[in-house]
Order: sequence, then C-alpha cells, then structure tokens
Amino acid sequence: MQPTHHPFQAEVSQVLSLVIHSLYSNKEIFLRELVSNASDALDKRRFAALQDPTLLNDGEQLEIRIIPDPDAGTLTIWDNGVGMSEEELKKNLGTIAWSGSREFLDKLKAAQSAGSDLPRLIGQFGVGFYSSYLVADRVSVTSRAAGSEQAFSWESTGEDGFSIAPAERASVGTSVVLHLKSDQREYVENGRLRQLVQHYSDYVAHPILLPKVELGEKPAEGAERPPELEAVNRASALWQRSPKDVTKEQYVEFYKHLTHEWEEPLGYRHFQIEGAQMFTGLLFLPSRAPFDLFDPEAHHGLRLHVRRVFVMQDCEDLVPRWLRFMRGVVDSEDLPLNVSRETLQDSRIIKAMKKQVVHQSLELLGEIAGERKDDYLKFWEHFGVVLKEGLYFEPEHKEKLEKLVRFESSAKGALLSLDEYVAEMPAEQSAIYYLIGPSQKAAASSPHLERVRKAGFDVLLLTDAVDSFAITALSEYAGKPLISVTAADLKLDKAEEKSDESETKPEEVKAGLLERFRDILKGKVVEVRASKRLLDSPACLVQPEGALPPHIERLLRQQKRDVPSARRILELNLTHPLVKSVTELDEREPGSERVREWLELLHDQALLAEGSPIEDPAGFAKNLTRLLTRAAERELSAPSA
Ligand code: ADP
Repeated sequence: MQPTHHPFQAEVSQVLSLVIHSLYSNKEIFLRELVSNASDALDKRRFAALQDPTLLNDGEQLEIRIIPDPDAGTLTIWDNGVGMSEEELKKNLGTIAWSGSREFLDKLKAAQSAGSDLPRLIGQFGVGFYSSYLVADRVSVTSRAAGSEQAFSWESTGEDGFSIAPAERASVGTSVVLHLKSDQREYVENGRLRQLVQHYSDYVAHPILLPKVELGEKPAEGAERPPELEAVNRASALWQRSPKDVTKEQYVEFYKHLTHEWEEPLGYRHFQIEGAQMFTGLLFLPSRAPFDLFDPEAHHGLRLHVRRVFVMQDCEDLVPRWLRFMRGVVDSEDLPLNVSRETLQDSRIIKAMKKQVVHQSLELLGEIAGERKDDYLKFWEHFGVVLKEGLYFEPEHKEKLEKLVRFESSAKGALLSLDEYVAEMPAEQSAIYYLIGPSQKAAASSPHLERVRKAGFDVLLLTDAVDSFAITALSEYAGKPLISVTAADLKLDKAEEKSDESETKPEEVKAGLLERFRDILKGKVVEVRASKRLLDSPACLVQPEGALPPHIERLLRQQKRDVPSARRILELNLTHPLVKSVTELDEREPGSERVREWLELLHDQALLAEGSPIEDPAGFAKNLTRLLTRAAERELSAPSA
C-alpha cells in the first residue's frame, strides 16, 4: 500500500523549529527523551497486561534496546512497550496535545526575538520525541500496538509533514530509527552511547541493552546474527534504593527523566515509610512554574506505582491543589494493582499517602526557607501564589504555612516572612499592618499608608487575588493581630498620640460641616468624617466593620455575582489645603452646588486611588474639566511669580 502524507499541525512545526534553533548545544538529550518515552511505553504495557494478561507473552522481558548501525549511519531505539496504532502515530507524533500550547509558543517566539535564554524557557515543557531532530535529518518510527497484528511506520524529515504506511514488526512495541546527520555520527559509537545511558538513564526501571561487541569488531563474514546485547543500566527503581546510595546527580537526572524538565529541581525529598502502611516517595520541587500552572484543565499530580508497577501518571489524589507544583513518584506496597481513578478518591491508603506528601513537602519547603534563602525566594516568585491557597483551603496547616509565607514590605521594598516583620517592629507597635491593593504600585502609593508610615510602622502590601482569602486564615501571628490599614477603626496605639500634633481635633471641626457633607454624598458613602490616617492626601475611603473589602467586591463582580454596592466611609484630611478651601467655601455658601462638585471629585479620586472603578467616569471627567477650567482662569488672573 502507498504511504499517505499528512501535514504537521502548525504548533508542531513551531516546536521543531524552536527545538532545533535553541537546543543545538544540548543535542545529546535526545537519547534521554527517547529512552524516557520507551520506558513509559513499557510501563503502560505492563499495566495494561494486568487487566488483560494476553497483552504480554509469558516470559517476555520488557526492555529497551539501543542499536547503532555505523554503516547505515542510523541509531535505533527499540522497545516492546504498548506501541501505537495508525491513529495514535498520527496524533502523538503529528499534533501537540498541551492545552494553551499556542499561546505559550507565541510567548516563546517573542522571547526568542528578544534574545532570551530559550533552553530555559523551552525546558518548561518536554521537547520529547521532537528532540530526535537535533541529531537526525530523517526519523522513521515503526510501531505495533498491543493487541494488534498490524504495524505502521511513520516517517518524516521534520520539514513539512509526515507519511504513514503499513509495515511489519515481529513483536508489539516501537522502534525509532534516527538517520543521523553527517556531523552527528558520534552517536553510533558504543562507548559514547554507554556513557550517555549511564549518565542520563541509569535509574530507568527497565533494562536498557546495548551491543556487547565493540563496534568495528564485526561478526564473522556471512554471519547474520544480530549483535549480542547486554544491559548497561542498573534497572532498579531509583526510589527503592536507600537514599544514602543515591547521589545528588542521580536524583537530578531522574527528575529530568520523570518530568522532561530542563533545569535542576530546587530541592528533593526521598522518604520510605514503614509500619501499618508501607510506601516510598520521591518528591521534587521544580525551579520554575510550568506554563499551565493556572490552567484549570491542566493535570497535576504525582506518578503512582504499586509495588514498582507503574499505575498512573499525574495522580491528583496524592497531592492537594495548593501543592500542585510538586512532582515525583509515590510507590505503594498496599494498594491493589487494579486501582482506578474512581476507586482512588475514597481510598484510605491514598489519603494516608497524601497526608505524608503534604508533610514531606512542607518539611522540604521549610528546609529551603531556612537554609537557602535565595532559592526560597525563587520558589516564592514562581509558586507562592499557589501555596497561599493552602492557608484558606486547609487551615489545619496554618502553623507551618504561616512560617512559609512571604509578603512585600512597604518599608523595605522586599519580601519578608512574618517573623522578619515582627522582629523589626518598634516597641510601641502591637499589630501587624497590611494593605490589600490591586497592584504593587497602587498599594505602595495608597493614601492609607501615610500616617502608619510616619509612625515608623511597616505595612505588608498584599496584591495577589488569593491574599484577601489567605489573610482571613491568618488573623494573628505571634500573638499580634493582623490589621488592615483600611479598617475604619484603625488605631495606631501610642504612635497616634506621638504624631498627633498636626491632627485636627474633632471639636475643631466646624459645626454642621460633616453633616452637610454627609448629606451631599448621601447614597455614595455611609459616613463622612475627619481622618487621622492621612498626611499628604486630601481624602480616602475606609470600610466599616463587616463590609466587603473593595478587592473582594471587585472579584465577585468580575464573576458576575450580584454584589450590593458596599457603602463606605469617606475620610477627609481637614488640614489639607484643598479640603480647607472646600470647607471655607462651604462656610460661605453652605451645601451649594460648587461644594457638591468638589466633594464628588474628592470621593471619586479616593475611589481611583484604591483601584476601584468610579460610577460615572464621564461625569467625573466633566466635573474635573469644569473645576480645572475655573482654576486655570484664576491662574491667569493671578500675577506671575
Ligand atoms: P511526551 O512524551 O512529553 O508526551 P512526546 O512528543 O515525546 O511527548 O511523545 C508524544 C506521545 O507519543 C507520548 O505521550 C506517547 O503517547 C507517544 N510515544 C512516544 N514514544 C513512544 C514509544 N516509544 N512507544 C509508545 N508511545 C510513544
């Protein structure tokens, strides 16, 4: 039968071009990627055979063979794993299945033109099979799916598409034949291949075989015997070895094999639990966030094995959502081999393992936070937002999590732990202050900070959407309450008295003034009062106790939830020249239209300052123009300085 031709999905061509242009100095990783794929295929066949024993022949050893052919200039990676059907060949090697891959690739392309470090970026997803084209100018894959008699072969030069044709293969499994580029012939040398397998793939749990005879020593003339093979790796699951027998380098290579990640992990933890339940875990903390960390469709989770047999990729029941960045393997001695995703959810054994995964992950994070501050900040930059979800969803871990959270300090412009914040508190400060804002910039210049800052108190700036929820779990730390500087009843203790000289005492407020202002702003705010927290700004909005904070209100509105407009308190800085002028104007013409215009402007700009939308932006602009015109006219009539 004639081969059929198929184009690559556009994303595949992009990945191929990115791989070839960015990984040219790391060509040798192709072998690790292909051996990983073969090893996964072996795991899948072994698992499938548990349900249907006919899928594996008696006594058939699952293995990977690496066969160089110096005469033909090819290198074959052979496995007797699950194999692929014609449809699977088309789908797996002609399309890209990651959700969000298009956006990610566009980002990569932009980064490439900006001269960024592409290997690091591209390492966020596994380059997998496509790395073959680093060393080959043509690749053919022959595969026979488990349970089928018919094999198919896929072939492509990696340029515009691939062809598929029926083929023959004696056993189930896959052979990937790389037609090596003329300058990549080192990959037919037995010694070089051995060295690569031992370096990258020693922990692969299946035997990896290479020809015994050194190439060049050809079998006797006419002998068509295939070369004798021997295993060159230890073929034992790395996590089953005693931690003292595993080197850091081996852990790192195992991590790369497991995740197809490019960079080293930030940390790892290997634990073996004995007792009523027995299981082993090997957890890794990646050094950067995957591009789909916030994609609700993306799968996260750990790889599950049962008595060494691979059972499931991305087992989500082993790790809570707020630790979804953790990678690794858990191997149970107690689960039945025929577990399914459905039965896992209620499994007592899985629950116990998950508890241990949480415990070990938090220990690992605590260790990095204590011993490697820079690495911890790197972790925080990528995954802090996710970890904070834990405070809200699983407050039982509060004690550990509150030691691990970091917040931006307004005084230091750096991330601080709560311990660091408390250690720097002046003696007269009795609370931990925070401000929730829409962005770092907006929060840092918020009028609410003015008096607190002058008192010498640091304020933590919380700008992630999750913060408003996380903070509810953190109502106090080290005996100090956490207080929002936008709370209506904010008291700055003794410091208030200290910096009180410039403050207008309530009795100095002109009689009836605030009532008139309240009346003018009726329907917009519940109260107008003299502020104790402002120094340089004329006005700000604060929340009465129990009111929804503005950021939560915004969040709920974004989700199209029906939120009653939370009315708040407008605080005026009665010593500010603008407010002084308005109060004088009010004295001359109490409650007039001109006073209303100024007050509405003050209210709207207080809304803007906290990042809230104003009700009537066009009306605001008109009002502002009118007032500015009057001010400009006055400028003209004033003598120039
Ligand atoms: P990844 O391994 O990250 O999924 P690849 O591009 O390397 O990405 O492979 C795509 C898919 O092709 C794999 O998920 C797997 O289903 C299939 N595949 C690759 N190599 C093999 C193999 N040797 N045997 C069976 N299936 C394979």
